[in-house]
Formats: sequence, C-alpha cells, structure tokens
Amino acid sequence: MNNLLVMKFGGTSVGSAARMKVACDLIAAEAAKRPVTAVVSAMSKITDLLLETTRHAEADDKAGIDRCLSQLETRHLEAAAELVAPEELRRVQDSVNELVADFSRIVSGMQMLGYRPPRAVDEAIAVGERLSALLISEHLRSRGITATAVNASEVVVTDAVFNNASPLMDATREKAGARLLPMLEAGEIAIVTGFNGATADGRPTTLGRGGSDFSASILSAALGAGELWIWTDVDGIMTADPRLVPDAKILEEITYSEAAELAYAGAKVLHPRTLAPLVERGIPVWSKNSFAPQKAGTRIVPALGAGNSGARAVTSMANVALVSLEPASSTVSGVHIMARALDALDRVNVEILALSSSSYRQSFCFLVRNEELERASEAIEAALALELTHGYVNGIEVDRNVGLLAVVGEGMRGASGLAGRIFTAISRENVNVIAIAQGSSELTISVVVRRDGLEKAVRAVHTECHL
Ligand code: ADP
Ligand code: ASP
Ligand code: MG
Repeated sequence: MNNLLVMKFGGTSVGSAARMKVACDLIAAEAAKRPVTAVVSAMSKITDLLLETTRHAEADDKAGIDRCLSQLETRHLEAAAELVAPEELRRVQDSVNELVADFSRIVSGMQMLGYRPPRAVDEAIAVGERLSALLISEHLRSRGITATAVNASEVVVTDAVFNNASPLMDATREKAGARLLPMLEAGEIAIVTGFNGATADGRPTTLGRGGSDFSASILSAALGAGELWIWTDVDGIMTADPRLVPDAKILEEITYSEAAELAYAGAKVLHPRTLAPLVERGIPVWSKNSFAPQKAGTRIVPALGAGNSGARAVTSMANVALVSLEPASSTVSGVHIMARALDALDRVNVEILALSSSSYRQSFCFLVRNEELERASEAIEAALALELTHGYVNGIEVDRNVGLLAVVGEGMRGASGLAGRIFTAISRENVNVIAIAQGSSELTISVVVRRDGLEKAVRAVHTECHL
C-alpha cells in the first residue's frame, strides 16, 4: 500500500496522558489525508520498571515486586482517567488491570522459579507497549476515530532469539498483510505495539532495547508503506547527541548508510537495525520531534546528491569493553586464532563493534558491549580451551576502561587528512587513543579511547570537523 504512512511514537512521545493526546493529534491529522498505521513504545521508563520487577521476582523480593506493580498500575490508570470519557472509564480500567494482571502472573512464575527465563521476560516486558497501545487506541475512539490496538505478536514473526529477535520477513508480510490491510481498507487505524513479536509457533519475543523503531520499519517494509515517520524528543538526527554536545546541529538529510552507521555506533535516536528492512524498497524515513511537530526533522534517504563532503556526525558509546588476544609465539597462526574466536562470537550472537589487528605480533582486539562481555569471554574460552591450556595463546585480556567514538559521513570516502585532524583533536585534549578502525566502506572512522576522556573527545572532534 504505497500511500500508507507508518508513524512510530517513542517513549517520551507517549510518556503521559498529555503526550498521548499530542500523539493522537498527529495521527488524526495525517489519517485525514491518507491511510495511517501507528507503532507505539511503552510510556517512558516503563520498560525499565518492568525489567526491574522481573529482577525483584528472581531475587524473591516480594516488597520490591509490589512496589513496582503499584507504580505500573497507577501510572496507566491515571493516564486512562485523562484520556477516556467517564462512561468508558470503567471498561478501560478493567483492560488496564487485566494487562497488569497478565504481567503479574508471569512475574509470580519467575518468583517461584527464582529465575527469569528469557522467553518469559519477553512476554512480560511487552506488556508496556500493550498498555500504551490500549490507551492510545481508546483515546482515538473517544474522539470518534476508529482505532484498534494490535499486539505485534500477531503480526511480526521472528526467530527464537529471545530478547534480541530478528524478523522473518516473508512470514511477517503474510501475517501483517492479513491482519492490517483489511483494517486499512476499512479506514481503521491500527495502533500496533512496538518492540515485540512472536515466533512462527507463537512464542513471544522482543527485538532488543529501543526496538520499537525496528518494529516500525519491519511493518513499513511488510506493508509496502510509502513513508515512515519516527516521532521522538529531539528535532531529528543531529551532528552529535545534544545531551553531550549542546551546540549539535540538526541534519536535514542523511543516507540510510550514514544513519545505520551512527545508530550502530551508539546514536540512540535510532535503533541500529531500523534501516535494513527499508533498503530494498527505498522507503524514506523522517525523524521528527513530537514536542515541536512544526519542524521538518531529518529525512533519511537511500542516497544524497553531490556536494556532501566531509564528516556528518560524531557519536559515542560508553558501555563497551575491549577484548585482546595474542598468540604466544610466531609459530601459532594468529589468523587461525582470530577465525576461531570470531566464529565463537558469532555463534553466541555477540556483536563486534570494532576490530583491529597487528600483523607482526598477530595480536588482535575487538570491542563489544558490556552486557555481551561475559557471553563473549565464555564463548572464546570454550572455543580456544586447548590453545589456552597449552599456552599457545596468551590469556584473554579485557579492558573495561574504554569508550568508542565514531565519526560518520559518506563524504569521508577518500577525504585526505581527515583522520589526522580527528586524532590531533583528540590528543590536544590529552585523551589516550587505544585502537583505531576504519570500516572498508570508508564511511566511519572508529576510535577507542580511555573512558574518562570520551565526552571531551566527542566535543573536540565535533568542533574540529566543523559539525
Ligand atoms: P525514543 O524514546 O523516542 O525512541 P530515544 O531516547 O530512544 O527516543 O532516542 C532519542 C535520544 O537520542 C535523544 O533524546 C538524544 O539524546 C539521543 N541521541 C543520541 N545521539 C543523537 C543524535 N546524533 N541525534 C539526535 N539524538 C541523539
Ligand atoms: N520500550 C522499549 C524500550 O524501552 C522499546 C522502545 O521504546 O523502543 O527499550
Ligand atoms: Mg528509541
């Protein structure tokens, strides 16, 4: 459906009854012109609260669970009271209570087990999005607009990698088409939960933190949408995180590749996997501010016209660790060790954020997210158990006191002198550079620096590159 507009609202854009009303204004305004499907996040901080509850359950902390449940209930019941007409309130309150009871039932199971099975966590935390979808659809109905909340577990089919699932696009196209297209044809607005899905045999999954952007792009691709608008709390994609660099500027246009590189290197404004489903059909994406909807925002497109030179944006990641490995002698093949280690990481789904190697010492190091570090170390230790026992490989070294800085821009291809300027800017701040990687696409220069110098380095590079 190529005139379809998919609109995604992030947590702050649906963070209160007032914000939900604004989101509904934006949905209604566009729905008057063309078919619209909305994808919504949980209210801000709710996913954190749900996860905290599951941790209390695992620790058998009854008081902690009750505290969280009451916060969850209060926040949504209070919003409901502002969003629906008095005569509908009782019914909507019952629906809120049912969802909270669903969540509470899963949490009780975890408490009994003293364990949080990943599959149960996924089913539990999707309740945040189900609650916000319920409230938004009810508010639209109270305005006389036909809207229905849809649980994405009915439309987004994924693999069974719980907590970080990937979509199966053919199956999703089929299910989403069957469920959503008739609604669209009838002029009905689907308010679909972001973040979650289910396996083909119906087991609930989630797409990773911040995954509602990804949900929206999966659905845009599955439904053949004409455009995707991602509503957030900043004016669009900026030359740096405005929380870190106050004079960061908005980028009017940016390519899929640039946006994806930025997201992978830590720019939270987009989930890293958002762009992939859109590439094939070249569906344009807008990143827009729901707190200032009159502003144009950033347009993300397949390619830019000529004349875009140099770096476009700088981003950073603080919660990372550098893992190094080195063969004990030159008779051991470093390439072989590297291949085994990388294969082991792939099998446990650890993402490598940057990789650097030295040909003479045959050593290599790579950067992973802190939350994946334990899994990474265990996998490598298991894969290289013999080499480690016999001393063919020096022990695995882990440095947590690091951060990643990345400079991104299509126009950096072949731009001479840029890398030098970046390093000079960083060293002027007396920040130690630990490792460097430039992707073969020449789109990104990644620099691993000491953690305590990361923010300073980001600001210095932002200034140096005239961003
Ligand atoms: P949402 O809840 O709408 O998905 P997020 O909190 O996930 O919003 O992402 C928006 C945040 O991303 C912004 O508030 C901003 O601090 C951060 N951010 C990081 N890097 C950038 C960047 N380059 N441009 C814009 N925002 C960025
Ligand atoms: N609510 C989920 C999270 O906080 C997904 C999202 O907001 O994108 O991670
Ligand atoms: Mg987000």
